[in-house]
Amino acid sequence: MSTTPQHLRAAREHAHAHANDHANGRAHTDAYALADDLAHERVRARAEIDLGALRANVRTLRARVAAGNAQVMAVVKADAYGHGAVPCARAALEAGAAWLGTATPYEALALRAAGIEAPILCWLWTPGGPWRAGIEAGLDMTVSGRWALDEVAEAARAAGRPARIQLKADTGLGRNGCLAGDWPHLVGEALKAQDQGLVRVTGVWSHFACADEPGHPSIAAQLAAFQDMLEYAEKAGVEPEVRHMANSPATLTLPETHFDLVRTGVATYGISPSPELGTPADFGLRPVMRLSASVAGVKRAPAGLGVSYGHHYVTDRETTLALVPLGYADGVPRHASGRGPVLVGDKVRTVAGRVAMDQFVVDLGGDVVEPGERAVLFGPGDDGEPTAEDWARAAGTIAYEIVTRIGARVPRVYLDGTGEEA
Ligand SMILES: *Cc1c(COP(=O)(O)O)cnc(C)c1O
Repeated sequence: MSTTPQHLRAAREHAHAHANDHANGRAHTDAYALADDLAHERVRARAEIDLGALRANVRTLRARVAAGNAQVMAVVKADAYGHGAVPCARAALEAGAAWLGTATPYEALALRAAGIEAPILCWLWTPGGPWRAGIEAGLDMTVSGRWALDEVAEAARAAGRPARIQLKADTGLGRNGCLAGDWPHLVGEALKAQDQGLVRVTGVWSHFACADEPGHPSIAAQLAAFQDMLEYAEKAGVEPEVRHMANSPATLTLPETHFDLVRTGVATYGISPSPELGTPADFGLRPVMRLSASVAGVKRAPAGLGVSYGHHYVTDRETTLALVPLGYADGVPRHASGRGPVLVGDKVRTVAGRVAMDQFVVDLGGDVVEPGERAVLFGPGDDGEPTAEDWARAAGTIAYEIVTRIGARVPRVYLDGTGEEA
């Protein structure tokens, strides 16, 4: 006889449904799903994802590392930096990416659940795993310390098959990874577990702190430390399938760091890792995301009208104001209040006053556009629209954060490279 009270059962079912949402990589509520189903042309806002550009970016990155025989891992963590993990992973693989990379195990499991069979490395584990699910899904699981090795070996014993693990060296990022002093112990224990048939050490890798700052002294120091730690592991008997270190900036500017594999995130999405390194075009890359909204209202306003919360903007003359139905709930940074650039009616305008949760205003300076006209926040820049980099500058952040934070309420519309919907 079940004694579970109704409300506890309901709460558990709710938690279960939420876990499924998580596994799908996007926490959709019904309202978001409904907007996804409607004709995108008419909806409030959309993020067009140009999969043709993404494929071209992957091919460009492959060509850049081909001389050293390195392969490309497309990093699709954080819902592919806001672009949509599953479609972007598929497009990257079509263009010849050999690996996929995610931060959390659930991101990796969601790719497997979508039927993606390519090698996937996943690097941000917490006690409890899910190691067993990772083993059964054939993930490459990063181990940075003894606790993780113990847990993964235990799960492998229970699963009756070895876990594929990659050892991560902290060569000077000072974040995740095993420091040099603890490395001999970790390598030794991993080899013992390998001898017992519990794990197979498939990779050795590390991550840069300052690869986007050309000439930073930590770059050479990290590379030398990685070579030492790798040599130690190989002499001890590790036979890695892949050795890797380079993120996007290292891939684009430091060929000596390419080893067997490069892990490119932001460059895959056509964004330069840093404006100091160059523009996307300098590297043959093209931005993949274009964020636009349908102007929700245009009105004549008198001089002296305070606009949006706090009245931080006051019209200085009679003018026209357009309402753009996107706000910080959609990932438009509130820090870009009074600064963010938007293309409306063939001119780049500036956000007037505060960005609110769902909307902001631009001053059209007397110009008139029809409600329904597109307001383009950012895109590749070819039609005069701002770029994600411009928004990063306006908000005091990096372009990575601008695209990654575009919220689940904004439908992603996938284009196949011809401008047609995929
Ligand atoms: C996010 C991440 C990357 C990708 O970095 P980009 O600069 O976007 O190319 C590579 N490796 C690790 C470990 C990461 O966390």
